Order: sequence, then structure tokens, then C-alpha cells
Amino acid sequence: MTQRIDPPLSVTDPELDALIRAEERRQADTLRLIPSENYASRAVLEASGSVLNNKYSEGYPHKRYYQGQVNIDAVEELAVSRLCALFGADHANVQPYSGSPANLAVYVAFMQPGDKSMGLALPAGGHLTHGWNVSVTGKYYQAIQYGVRQSDHLIDFDQVAALAREHRPKLLWAGTTAYPRVLDYDRFAEIAREVGAILVADIAHISGLVAGGAHPSPFGKAEVVTSTTHKTLRGPRGGMILCDAAHQKRIDRAVFPGLQGGPHNSAIAALAVAAKEAATPAFRDYARAVVDNARVLAEGLLSRGIALVTGGTDTHLILADLTPTGVPGKPAAVALEKAGIVTNYNSVPFDTRGPFDPSGIRIGTPAITSRGMGPDEMRRLAGWIADVIEDVEDEARLARIAGEVKDLCDQFPAPGLPS
Ligand SMILES: *Cc1c(COP(=O)(O)O)cnc(C)c1O
Repeated sequence: MTQRIDPPLSVTDPELDALIRAEERRQADTLRLIPSENYASRAVLEASGSVLNNKYSEGYPHKRYYQGQVNIDAVEELAVSRLCALFGADHANVQPYSGSPANLAVYVAFMQPGDKSMGLALPAGGHLTHGWNVSVTGKYYQAIQYGVRQSDHLIDFDQVAALAREHRPKLLWAGTTAYPRVLDYDRFAEIAREVGAILVADIAHISGLVAGGAHPSPFGKAEVVTSTTHKTLRGPRGGMILCDAAHQKRIDRAVFPGLQGGPHNSAIAALAVAAKEAATPAFRDYARAVVDNARVLAEGLLSRGIALVTGGTDTHLILADLTPTGVPGKPAAVALEKAGIVTNYNSVPFDTRGPFDPSGIRIGTPAITSRGMGPDEMRRLAGWIADVIEDVEDEARLARIAGEVKDLCDQFPAPGLPS
């Protein structure tokens, strides 16, 4: 029999509802420093959870394989036009389910299996989907991997140029997930042009900073730009591909029908909302504050003797090399979580330890900056992190810091969470 009334989640599934409420509390009461995470606004969350979830719409606006698209076409067109205006791009495909499928679609668009592509190696701060060997992008395609210099841990452009000349890859990826410095897109573009490669900028981590003018833009330099939509851009979980008009057809065909079926319309609607938010002066201030906060936090950590890869940051991200402290990344991250400070352990360049127990921790300021925290809070945070690492087994100290963290969090309510 059809159920006529529609009880809320708390009634139909109290077990699941309790988990969501507990996660709300965790996100409210901890300092979330994972650099790929953020707090989406209430408006973005509302669109994500809307009835657009219920609609199938394979194809693109006005070229669909299902009827009933009057509202869905308008939603997708709004997302596309807002993103093109925000970034200064000719075309945007907003259908990729996340960052990894967006990247895979770029391979599908331009490469045959066995063709060569080039990207930054994972241990040097690159992403799995730039050709690392456990990813299909490293299995189905011939992946050439460049790295960072041993001397200063910056991208080794001499190596990039030499490998590009030797291998003449079809795609050259410029993008990072654990690299604290801005990327020189001019240099990448010059190398790509010389060898006839398509330069693909993957701005998954930094798209919000690019939109807000706090990181150099790859647009006009890279022919194709991919991104997630849920990191610094503060949108729903999803992916997107922006490109020059010349590549529109190939990219669209690669996403659908090449790789995906029906788009996630609720995510596309929420992305349209995020793109509108990102076009405001307040978002420019946010992007600037993310970078300023990271710099102040980095200075605070350095002043407490914590070594940072490349000696600091000019983005939202800090990679601390804990080798000199004698505490590996994993026990540090576990102790920090007990103190209410959530980071992730991470390899550092030329790490002598394995990926499941590496030497570093990766820290980012996007989420705490969304709460409105500023330089004073960054200095307190640097002190807490250094105190935890000084003695990861002092449970009383960890508990005391967790209490102080909670008090600070109470002063800076997070967007999107019930107050
Ligand atoms: C996060 C990230 C991705 C992948 O995004 P998912 O949504 O996790 O699939 C791709 N590239 C880079 C550089 C990233 O940081």
C-alpha cells in the first residue's frame, strides 16, 4: 500500500538520524583542518537536498533523452553561465559526479588507452588521477610522472620540460593536493605549447581561491580546467570541467555518454548557488582570509620549531614535516584529533616512511576561515598544535586543549549547521 503521509527522518530512521546529528556536533565542536574540507552554506545544502534529486535528465539542456526538463534545463544553464562568468571560461560542463570522474572524462576526451599523459607524482603532492599507478589513469594510459626538487621541494620545471620533450605527452596536468605553493601556469603553458600537449589545470583544491582572486588563475593559459566543487569553492560534492570553446564537444561527449549516465541535478543546482555566492565581494574577502590565515598559522608553527615543507605557504595549505620532532604523522594526527583538531597524516616529499605511517601532517584553513576565524585564532591554534606534538601521550593536556578548542568553536558558529 502507498504511504500517504511522509514522516521525517527522525521518525522513520532514528538510527541514521542520530548519526547525522552526531556529525553535526562533531563539525561544530572541532577545528576542521583537512584542507580539502569546508562548510557549505545553508543555501547550498538546501539545494543539495532538494526534489531535483528525483529527476532523470541524460543529455544536455534542450538535448535530453527524457521529457519533463523545463526546470532542469534552466537549472543547468544557470550553473553553466554563472561558472563561465565567474572564471572567464568559454564553456563549463557541470555534470561530473566528482573531481576524479571529471579528470577521467578529460582522459576519455583526448586519449586512447596506452597514450601518454604527464602529471605530478602522488608522493610529491600530486593527485591519484594524474597517473599514479594504483589509479586507472596510471593503468590504462602511459603515465609519465614529474616531481619536486630535492633541494627546495618546489616543482622541478627543468625535469618537467625534459620529460615533456622526451615523451611528448598528449596531456600535461598541472594540479596538486599536497603542495603549499602557487603554480606557475605560464611555465606549464610554455612547455605544453612546445611539445604540443594540452595543458590541463586541476584546481580542485584552489578553485575558491582562484574565483576569489587569491591564487593566480590558469584561465587563458590552460585549455582545460577541472575542479571539484566542494573544497575551497564551498559548493556541493561534485566536479566540473571548464574549457575553451574548441574543446566543448569532446569534453561534453566524454562526460555523457562516454563516462556517465544521468547527472545529479540537485548537486548541479547547489553548484549554481555556490557560483553565485563565489561572485560576491564577501567571497573575495573569504578567499584572501583563507590565505592570510594559512600564512599566520605557518608562522606560528615555525616559531614553535615545527618544520614546514618549502618553509611555509602561499595557499590555503600547510604541509608540516614532523621528522625532526621524532613523532610520525599518524600518532600526531591521532593525538590532535583527541584535542579537537582534525588533520590528516600525509607523506612529505622524499618521505622515508610508508604512506600509511608517513612523516607529515597536512593542514588547511578553508573550513576554519568559513567560521570567521582570523589571525588571533590562528596564533592560538599554532600553539595548541605545537603543544600536542610536544607530548602526544599527555592525555590530560589533550583533554584540556579539546575543552579550549570547544570554547573557541562556540564563539565562531559554522555556516550550514543548526545553531
Ligand atoms: C580532491 C582532488 C581530486 C578528486 O576529487 P574527488 O571529488 O575526491 O574525486 C582531483 N584532483 C585534485 C588535485 C584534488 O585535490
